[in-house]
Amino acid sequence: MYTETTEFSGPAALQLEAVAKSYRTGTARVTALHEVSLAVPAGTFTAIMGPSGSGKSTLLQMAAGLDTPDSGRVLLGSTDISRLRRKALTVFRRDHVGFVFQSYNLLPQLSVSRNVTLPLLLGGRSVDHDWLGYVLEAVGLSGLNDRMPQELSGGQQQRAAIARALITRPDAVFADEPTGALDSVTARQVLDLLRHTVADLGQTVVMVTHDPVAACSADTVIFLADGRLDGSLANASVRDVTERVAYLGER
Ligand code: ADP
Repeated sequence: MYTETTEFSGPAALQLEAVAKSYRTGTARVTALHEVSLAVPAGTFTAIMGPSGSGKSTLLQMAAGLDTPDSGRVLLGSTDISRLRRKALTVFRRDHVGFVFQSYNLLPQLSVSRNVTLPLLLGGRSVDHDWLGYVLEAVGLSGLNDRMPQELSGGQQQRAAIARALITRPDAVFADEPTGALDSVTARQVLDLLRHTVADLGQTVVMVTHDPVAACSADTVIFLADGRLDGSLANASVRDVTERVAYLGER
């Protein structure tokens, strides 16, 4: 489902074509990604798993347009973002990409609704108050619009961050260890919420995680080892994923 060679129905929200990236550290060169190709269908939830150093963050950064590949192409929706210059890429990201981080990254001096609508404000776009209300209700924060981040629990802060990621109706939401700072019950609620955004809002979500329980919330788990794709699992159980992770890079 996730390589160039296999077919899937429906449009791709995200396509990576032979994306390669290496970093220079002193005199050495580390290849973080070796010509990775994958396609993520629109309206699906994908988890990316792999050991530390396998290239997960690099892949997410390339896919989300936070950094550019050395070679290859990244298409988000119908836009080849690898060809965009820095300024155009910043604008594109703001309007078409949502981000959710482990540490929420809310601005402490802004209320929930101002944090959530910040991407619109930065893009010079007006706030659709019906959509704002819908999104806040979808993430379970109705009535908390005027709260400050420090008045919210960790789970509520992550819900606000998810609302902020959804507010622009982006082509894709990228989540980097979104449950890493949460207890298991709150983590489950946040994962259910991400699933809900896919099922009910048709959102495309790509999540990096090292947690097999989190990964199993996704429709498909794709595995990375040493900067290369190492297979995928659809509708996987925690046991499937845990077993697969144990043998990564050994096939
Ligand atoms: P993961 O997210 O799976 O832990 P990364 O994408 O962070 O993996 O890293 C992949 C490889 O690239 C690792 O060997 C890492 O040390 C290297 N790397 C990542 N970012 C940089 C950087 N900015 N400078 C140098 N090396 C980097």
